[in-house]
Amino acid sequence: MKPLGPIPAGFTAIDGVLAVGGKPVTTWVEQAGDTPLFLYEAERVRARVADLRAAMPGRLALHYAVKANPFMPLLSLMDGLVDGFDIASGGELEIVRGAGIDLSRVSFAGPGKRDRELEAAIRAGVTLNLESEAEARRAIAIGDELSLTPRLALRVNPDFDLKGSGMKMGGGAKPFGIDAERVPELVRHIVASGAEWRGFHIFAGSQALDAEAIAETQGQALDLAARLALQSGAPLPHCNLGGGLGIPYFPGDKPVDLTLVGERLAARLENLPDVLQETAFCIELGRYLVGESGVYLARVIDRKESHGEVFLITDGGLHHQLAASGNFGTVVRRNYPSAIATRFDAPVEEEASIVGCLCTPLDKLADKGGFPRAEAGDLIAVFCAGAYGASASPANFLAQGPAVEMLV
Ligand SMILES: *Cc1c(COP(=O)(O)O)cnc(C)c1O
Repeated sequence: MKPLGPIPAGFTAIDGVLAVGGKPVTTWVEQAGDTPLFLYEAERVRARVADLRAAMPGRLALHYAVKANPFMPLLSLMDGLVDGFDIASGGELEIVRGAGIDLSRVSFAGPGKRDRELEAAIRAGVTLNLESEAEARRAIAIGDELSLTPRLALRVNPDFDLKGSGMKMGGGAKPFGIDAERVPELVRHIVASGAEWRGFHIFAGSQALDAEAIAETQGQALDLAARLALQSGAPLPHCNLGGGLGIPYFPGDKPVDLTLVGERLAARLENLPDVLQETAFCIELGRYLVGESGVYLARVIDRKESHGEVFLITDGGLHHQLAASGNFGTVVRRNYPSAIATRFDAPVEEEASIVGCLCTPLDKLADKGGFPRAEAGDLIAVFCAGAYGASASPANFLAQGPAVEMLV
């Protein structure tokens, strides 16, 4: 048997069935009318934000990275919980606009922004986190053409990365951000252009569980911001310190020690150099805010045995859960937390693999896990499905189409 990832704390059974949002998931499946189904539990999102607010210094604003999960009802919930939103495309701009979010609280990062995306952002008063000198020139020119003052920040490619992070986004040659040593000159150019200078965006990595490493990276980001602000000779209105906080997906993973991160950051913010005294700070988080709130449900269509192994074949798969299948940026496939949702409190009885309905051996949701015996008709659950699930999976593969999503 291969181990399964840790199920986030607090999930219980009602009459043997996994409960989400206070009801057995079978109730939500009935209401949705179909499987597969993503359930996002609002209470978990609220609790996560409250925990963060309690642990982090009051001066630190909290932004939500929309790409983790752009489901509209979830964005509306977030609107009342966080201080700002980070988007990464013109499409996400239209989504946050549609959710009625105040666009002056939105920043737009990401390489390869097209002119029409820059224009839409400038018209909307969105802050652009510029990724290159050429993008800065285009943004300034578009502002001039429209007779609008663009709100411009610079994404810095830091000279360090986040140790232990699942995805390194800084350090060395990168398509993201502007190399730190070229930043001061570009800041002076932006200020001279008459644009509204908004500050730095320093994002060094994602999905880290090591609190020491996260704290160290935040400290390095503050040092870098101070150095670049001094060299630029312009005040720094705002500094986005990036994200990096991960969630436990795999066997042995432990949650981030949030208290340590908060205390270390508070100590740093209390002892800022003069050049950062007036600066407003934020962090931007995606998966940490919503990842554990999500549960993906699929129905077992067929149970079969092949050469002594049990396969539970479901109506879901990698087209909704690319990351859980091990095909989204992982080197070695490991099991996400999963369970038989309709036998949630039953003991382990057998080794089984949960697979999807696509004709590829990649379509595996759990490999040789220990489960109660499940039959056709049972529901399986994959946990940690709230981030990079529906939004980061190829829903059109084999013309399967998207799963239903619900906020409960
Ligand atoms: C993806 C991304 C995030 C969110 O990362 P998570 O791991 O979901 O917290 C934040 N900022 C930027 C710039 C990103 O590209």
